[in-house]
Amino acid sequence: MSEKFPILVTGGAGYIGSHAVLALRDAGWPVVVIDNLVTGFRWAVPEGVGFVEADIGDAQAVSAALTAHQIGAIMHFAGSVVVPESVEDPLKYYRNNTANSRTLLEAAVTCGVRHFIFSSTAATYGIAETIPVREDSPKRPINPYGMSKLMTEFMLADVAAAHPINYCALRYFNVAGADPQQRTGQSTAGATHLIKVAVEAATGKRDHVTIFGTDFATPDGTGVRDYIHVSDLAAAHVHALEKLIADPASSHTMNCGYGKGFSVSEVLDAVDRATNLKIERRFEGRRAGDPDALIADNSKILATLPWRPQRDNLDLMVKDALAWERVLAERGK
Ligand code: UDP
Repeated sequence: MSEKFPILVTGGAGYIGSHAVLALRDAGWPVVVIDNLVTGFRWAVPEGVGFVEADIGDAQAVSAALTAHQIGAIMHFAGSVVVPESVEDPLKYYRNNTANSRTLLEAAVTCGVRHFIFSSTAATYGIAETIPVREDSPKRPINPYGMSKLMTEFMLADVAAAHPINYCALRYFNVAGADPQQRTGQSTAGATHLIKVAVEAATGKRDHVTIFGTDFATPDGTGVRDYIHVSDLAAAHVHALEKLIADPASSHTMNCGYGKGFSVSEVLDAVDRATNLKIERRFEGRRAGDPDALIADNSKILATLPWRPQRDNLDLMVKDALAWERVLAERGK
């Protein structure tokens, strides 16, 4: 690879963004983070990484950062990610995820940024018609969160057709785990995601885990999901960046998952194995809109990028999530 230009990472102080910052730095890319610190943490941005405290909806601040740092590509993670909240406050999601992405894209086009990597989601599929789900499956989001991300995908396609910029939209499945060196991890309070909730229970932050639904059409009746280690996901972004640079006429939309599902019970068993304890399991009915199973068909990313999963193992994901939870506990968080 030739000269490495600076990359702007929006939401780089957050969970997935901070892992992407590490992956970029480990690969030798200069990085600048822009984050409004609403859910992110200043400490999550390592020494030596430029930091701009601003909202990506602030066109002036974004343009100033793009120009001042001579940004060549953007990795866009900033946004809101809580599905039930998106149902209660849809306009927050259409502002933070859709309208602010539009502002960011306009600044990118105006400032001549050539490559754009977007944090999308399997929630764009809604209730998947087929399992594993392919990228060309129908996109019928069942909540404003998924719709707000899908709308940004549409904008990206139109913008890339009209301007000298190419993009990669990565549709994440269930992201879990933490940096194996424990430099960062999932740190935002009020977690709702299964593995985070379970390791909080395992470290005494909660006294039980609730299993939402035992009557799904899955082998053990609990919901099945494709969990991907956040470090593998971060690595996929670096490969996507290199692909966009190598092949500037191409844009891509790809699933990010392992193509393998685990049930809620299997995940909790893995957490019990990791601690040699038994977390108390309670049972409630299904959450609204929870599909039985959601698993990625990942053949496209495997064919397009040299990305190969390194931590494709539920026990490893749980181990890393648990190690990070213990770091937080030591810090009194
Ligand atoms: N889940 C659960 N208890 C929890 C959190 C999640 O039983 O405290 C289940 C949820 O119903 C789904 C799976 O775990 O089957 C993954 O849910 P999560 O919220 O982590 O991610 P989602 O797939 O909803 O994006």
